[in-house]
Amino acid sequence: MPVYVFACQECGSFELARPMAEASSRTCCPTCEREARRVFTPPRLTRLATPARRALETEEASAHEPRVVTEKRGRPLRRRRESAPPWVLH
Ligand SMILES: [Zn+2]
Repeated sequence: MPVYVFACQECGSFELARPMAEASSRTCCPTCEREARRVFTPPRLTRLATPARRALETEEASAHEPRVVTEKRGRPLRRRRESAPPWVLH
């Protein structure tokens, strides 16, 4: 589930995981329960442990997380070393 950033006027920003369909709707601050508004940042995807899910997220994650981008920014990257051993030909 994507994680979005919201900002409370009293408490500052906090993160909330919610369905994409509800990304822009308002929410309440978990601390003071005042209305909080969404801060528009690129959605981050939560890390899930299942390998199938990781494979699906690899491409999307590379678009948002510079640490996995070594070259060719903005284009699909080759799979990371752990998922593509050197002895496997594509
Ligand atoms: Zn608050």
